[in-house]
Amino acid sequence: MTRFNTQLVHGLPVGDNNTGAVNPPIYNSTTYAFEGVGAMPRYDYARSGNPTREFLERQIAQLEHGTRGFAFASGLAAIHATLSIFEPGDRIVVGKNIYGGTYSLFHEYFSRWGLKIESVDTHDFQALEHAVAGDREHGVSPAKAVYFEVLTNPLLDVNDVRGIANIARRYGALTIVDNTFVTPYLQRPLDLGADIVIHSATKYLAGHSDVNAGLVVTLSEEVGNRLYFAQNRFGGVLAPLECDAVRRGIQTLALRMDRQQANAKSVAQYLLAHPLVKTVNYPGLPGRDAELREKGLKGAGGVLSFEVVPGVDPADVLDNLHVFRLAVSLGAVESLAELPCRMTHFELPREERLKVGITDELVRLAIGIEDAADLIEDLGQAFDIAYEKYIERHAGADVFAELTSGVFA
Ligand SMILES: *Cc1c(COP(=O)(O)O)cnc(C)c1O
Repeated sequence: MTRFNTQLVHGLPVGDNNTGAVNPPIYNSTTYAFEGVGAMPRYDYARSGNPTREFLERQIAQLEHGTRGFAFASGLAAIHATLSIFEPGDRIVVGKNIYGGTYSLFHEYFSRWGLKIESVDTHDFQALEHAVAGDREHGVSPAKAVYFEVLTNPLLDVNDVRGIANIARRYGALTIVDNTFVTPYLQRPLDLGADIVIHSATKYLAGHSDVNAGLVVTLSEEVGNRLYFAQNRFGGVLAPLECDAVRRGIQTLALRMDRQQANAKSVAQYLLAHPLVKTVNYPGLPGRDAELREKGLKGAGGVLSFEVVPGVDPADVLDNLHVFRLAVSLGAVESLAELPCRMTHFELPREERLKVGITDELVRLAIGIEDAADLIEDLGQAFDIAYEKYIERHAGADVFAELTSGVFA
């Protein structure tokens, strides 16, 4: 058995490459010749199976320690296929802070389709157990699945996969983990008791902001068969060229993630000390190693968020960044910055946003592989401009009094 970094580079050859090419071939053929009418060819039609896709599917299954892997045209296509393995009437317990597109898919599509979606704080094991157990006396059966993300977005709370999966298993519910922010390099949820792992491979796995893709890995063959049905019948499969782009991205996952984490740590330390920054959310901050280890994570990833102090307009920081690009998404080689309340989370009503802690002052950074010093300099000059604008806005007021009265505390 090879080790993780070797598996990233080599995957599991599908056995179709007779030329000696060091990269797996990209097969664009949609159909495959039968040897005779009675023959059962390994591949017959590309929606049902394609060698380029199979390479990627076997590789992600290997990396996540599962049995079956599936590649989809986007993360949301993967999530749609996964939820479709349930039946109308089934209850699904969902972490209360999940990706906006997933939230909308659950509440605006799957609830119409007949799934009963229940949001719960997955850090509160008592509330979670209560929700999963249901209430037989009143005709509420146990949930069929628990769905959550390991690192919440954009506040970066760390969910405890092992603890959550233990509760789910007790009631026969499947544990479904969106591992997008974490990747199998930092944690393999199936090893901690989960049943299904999902990735928006658009992010860290592909890693270059140039392909939309989704991946699913199942622990069991049986759940894998249900997922294969959904993949083959909805047909939201990943095209061969995109499969190859994700494969190439995966080869450098560990190298990119190492640099992204080192950069994120430096940026987080810088932000902690900056007078215009009120709070920093990053599980890689000093003193949090034990929590990460306990929850089975090898690292904190490359996304962090921070709040500017009251009175400073976060847009003045974001609009003046040059190395960071002002954009949604994450996990790529380039650093991105965004304002959740206006960009990634604007669909959430303001009250809901504030309830989960996504304030109007919160900025999210997705750290890339550049030089940390350039990222820090970029933030520094943007903070300087934001501070000047703050002074201009308060030209008539006694800024010194505000400063010493604790606005900048
Ligand atoms: C981006 C993202 C998705 C959706 O994936 P797409 O590839 O954009 O469809 C799902 N979950 C998380 C955590 C994401 O960041």
